[in-house]
Amino acid sequence: MKIKNILLFPITTPREAGAPSQHIIVKLETDEGPIGFGEMPDFTHLPALMPDVVDLERTLSHLLIDCDPLEIAAVNERLKQYFPQGAFWDKSSLVRCGVDLALYDLVGKVEQKPVYGLLGGKFRERIPVSYPIFRQKRREEIPENIARMHRLMGQGFSAFRYYFGANLDVDETFLSEVTKEFGDKVILASLDGSGLFDRKGFLAAYKRLAQFNFLLIESPVRRDDIEGLKEVKETIAHPVSEHIQSPANAKEFARVGAVDVFNISLAAAGGISEAEEVAKIARDSGIRILVGTTQETSIATAASAHFAASLPHLDYYSNPVGPVLYTQDVTETPVHYEDSHLIVPQGPGLGVEVDEEKFEELKENLTARYILREDYRRASQVAI
Ligand code: MG
Repeated sequence: MKIKNILLFPITTPREAGAPSQHIIVKLETDEGPIGFGEMPDFTHLPALMPDVVDLERTLSHLLIDCDPLEIAAVNERLKQYFPQGAFWDKSSLVRCGVDLALYDLVGKVEQKPVYGLLGGKFRERIPVSYPIFRQKRREEIPENIARMHRLMGQGFSAFRYYFGANLDVDETFLSEVTKEFGDKVILASLDGSGLFDRKGFLAAYKRLAQFNFLLIESPVRRDDIEGLKEVKETIAHPVSEHIQSPANAKEFARVGAVDVFNISLAAAGGISEAEEVAKIARDSGIRILVGTTQETSIATAASAHFAASLPHLDYYSNPVGPVLYTQDVTETPVHYEDSHLIVPQGPGLGVEVDEEKFEELKENLTARYILREDYRRASQVAI
């Protein structure tokens, strides 16, 4: 079988709050008929620089047409030469993620297996997930977020994660109100610092927030401050998690003993293949795992569910809730959530029915203009 065509569809999905997110949907066509869909999820992050989608489609066509899509590893190796892993904010990994997901979808359809079946089978059918409450700067934002939590609880969510650090007075008041309002009806899965603090600043913040009931701290200090992460991990009572961007990054973190938990997302790792490698390094090193997100549509969220299902150990609440956060999607029905769990889709490939008409409805060329919007900054989409 050969790849005959690779098509890219840039789309914008509005959010229930904050600026919309932009993604590129990938469609792979083959000479024998089967097709695969993938997703380069959420370009609406810094740097405020977007790829030229027409040029990217031309580049990927040049690299991939006539390759055998069943040879996922070989295609990924070829892609890595042209889209190498860079720094955390690099968008190369999104490009590789989009192609890798389309390959898995395609191969699953050819072999009539769900993607988790290609990964050795599933350990679970639903993935515990938490809903994000974004960073707040002003007290006036608190009632809106308490109302948001009530609304999400009505939809079955009981686990939330909270981005802190824009204003610690507001954080402390908010977390007190959450405790008063909901008690043990909600679980605070994590407090996320997004790597905005230095060591001293984080420890001062932690002193104020440690009194609240939460499971772990994510990204306490700058991501490249590995020694700082280790110092924090050894100082505080909670486990520390950090986003892992590649197998090399995972090995370095494991060698230093920088964190307790790897936050593994398909977007940061550059697809399922690389994420599997990162997960193996975690297992070999006794590091716990959660599955992260950059907020995907139902295509890459389904892929995250298959990946999460295939992990022997999944230790904390995972994060992919894009289809709840976004008000529009690209599948006939969005992936399903139930009691703070993402349900692993069944059926061959990613197990979602892509609705190509939605590509047209949501079509918009990539633009950095959303990153400049005030509501982007307000919702702190700057931070992951
Ligand atoms: Mg995070």
